Amino acid sequence: MPEIPGATHLHSGKVRDLYELASGDLLMVASDRISAFDHVLSPGIPDKGEILTRMSSWWFAQLEDIVPNHVLSTDVPDMVAGRAVVCENLAMYPVECVARGYLTGSGLIDYRATGEVCGVPLPDGLDDGSRLPTPIFTPATKADLGEHDENVTFEAVVETVGAETADRLRELTLAVYERAEGIARERGIVLADTKLEFGARPDGTIVLADEVLTPDSSRFWPADDLRPGGPQPSYDKQIVRNWLLSPESGWDRASDTPPPTLPAEVVERTRARYIEAYERLTGERF
Ligand code: ATP
Ligand code: MG
Repeated sequence: MPEIPGATHLHSGKVRDLYELASGDLLMVASDRISAFDHVLSPGIPDKGEILTRMSSWWFAQLEDIVPNHVLSTDVPDMVAGRAVVCENLAMYPVECVARGYLTGSGLIDYRATGEVCGVPLPDGLDDGSRLPTPIFTPATKADLGEHDENVTFEAVVETVGAETADRLRELTLAVYERAEGIARERGIVLADTKLEFGARPDGTIVLADEVLTPDSSRFWPADDLRPGGPQPSYDKQIVRNWLLSPESGWDRASDTPPPTLPAEVVERTRARYIEAYERLTGERF
């Protein structure tokens, strides 16, 4: 992670690096790193950090009338220009606020085991990729590094943040999902689910933070070839995932070994996919 003059490094996730500025505000930097199957791959995808930063900013603007967001400025140090934002330093709620409109991933696993997801009962007969009767709030607790997030019930969120805040987080999460799902649908993209993070200002105002509605925090599926009954091709990482699982890569997912270096052709096609997703959603050229 790069050293940035005037900024103190606080935290690095798989993809992003977080710094504190002298003002007390935060600098959130999106790198070009890409992760799949919980591994950070090498090399990165050129321009990915900038594409996702722009996408997130575009979404924040689409959501402004629903919830305030943490972005203060895009005036950032030159060395991270375009792929960083200055944001409010919030007291983050320790809840991954997930909304799902379609059943897949950990939701599908829970449904198959219990008929419910996060305590929300669902009708019989749903399959991988099925559209839910109505979007649902399926919170998760943030896992420690290397662990998977764990789905929890709404009651568990109430115990963590109190009933009033839990209600508000659910309401905001579903409102954001519904807005975004509608916008994506108009552009031929299905927003299957998304993960949001919220924090509080000192005065208690709930603010939308982190990154929003990027392929790293959401599942986007091309609407054209939606075929419930099996895994859907994802908009962005499918190329990388397919290559890693192909005999060509020589990698065994079940092994604990790091995945091999991505071939240039896979990197280039993945970059093109991120740009396509950005342009299709926002209607802007990258
Ligand atoms: P992963 O790679 O699995 O996402 P991670 O969540 O630890 O790991 P990042 O997402 O890169 O890594 O880290 C961003 C961190 O910054 C998260 O802990 C997030 O909760 C926090 N965060 C985001 N926005 C704000 C904000 N406005 N104020 C304070 N913390 C924030
Ligand atoms: Mg994160």
